Amino acid sequence: KVTRTDIPSAQYGGRHAVTMLPGGGIGPELMTYGNDDLDYAITSIKRNGVALKGNIETKSQELSEVSRNVAIRNELDLYVNVVHCKSYPGIPARHQDIDVVLIRQNTDGEYAMLEHESVPGIVESMKVVTVENAERVARYAFEYARQNNRKKVTTIHKANIMKLSDGLFLECAKRVHKDYPELEHDNMIIDNTCMQAVSKPHQFDVMNMTNLYGTIVSNVLCGLMGGAGLISGRNYGDHYAVFEPGTRNTGTAIAGKNIANPVAMINASIDMLNHLGHKEHANVIYEATYQTIVNDAIRTPDLGGNHSSTDVVENILKILSAKRVNWPHG
Ligand code: ADP
Ligand code: MG
Repeated sequence: KVTRTDIPSAQYGGRHAVTMLPGGGIGPELMTYGNDDLDYAITSIKRNGVALKGNIETKSQELSEVSRNVAIRNELDLYVNVVHCKSYPGIPARHQDIDVVLIRQNTDGEYAMLEHESVPGIVESMKVVTVENAERVARYAFEYARQNNRKKVTTIHKANIMKLSDGLFLECAKRVHKDYPELEHDNMIIDNTCMQAVSKPHQFDVMNMTNLYGTIVSNVLCGLMGGAGLISGRNYGDHYAVFEPGTRNTGTAIAGKNIANPVAMINASIDMLNHLGHKEHANVIYEATYQTIVNDAIRTPDLGGNHSSTDVVENILKILSAKRVNWPHG
């Protein structure tokens, strides 16, 4: 169940209704929408089955203020995050020709939000690993590898130090691997993974990671291939799917300047169209976006260009309007 088109999605009046969560920072200007109440948002995603979201900013360090991004993932049980890091040729980057699929446990681990000050001056933070979640993320990774003709899954951990928690995560991956004998499975310690990722990223194929290691490695890889503005990320559970920019940045510092790279958010909407079964429309938008940044070199400053966010979007729209595509509902 990798493409998950088996999930029934609501169609009101023949249209797919999807939930849009623009988040903070540059989210609203990329999606022209304001922030809304969290409960309402979750209810809306539950009704629609699908959402497109920006990253919601957690400004306060107050204990009562939980990350609404984490709350959404937990509430909807979006247990896996998939970030396909595939290079665009010719985009200025540390490495070219990267093609790595990052699969990350998305709901537990270090993101359990169970922190407390046991006595003044001593804080404890719980890292939770469960057999159920470790097995289903591993199964997702191996199933993805099988269905997409990948050869190898690498499980990332720190089981030499965190023997019980990361040890269990690794053990679950090894157990699930038994059902996929045609695939290679190896494992690597997170610190070495970061070193290997910056020096020899091409050795990786599919990676299976705990929550915190997953965010670190996805930011390292996205940074190596062109930054936060390019790559999208997909969050899946058994019932819902949420699409967003892969590195989950708010980009608050560049908000309101019309310089944010819109490609990661456009790629997230392409992922959403694919999920909803609109392959043809997903493909033409992908091709128009690819042509815009690769061939036409219409690029925002993060990619070394001097174009605005709207220049990129307008170029994509120009290419799309020249193509004969049947857009439903105009
Ligand atoms: P975080 O959300 O983790 O605090 P930031 O929002 O500060 O991270 O983003 C990290 C970096 O990535 C910043 O330098 C930001 O300008 C850059 N960035 C994030 N999104 C984009 C984007 N869409 N286009 C260009 N740069 C971006
Ligand atoms: Mg931020």
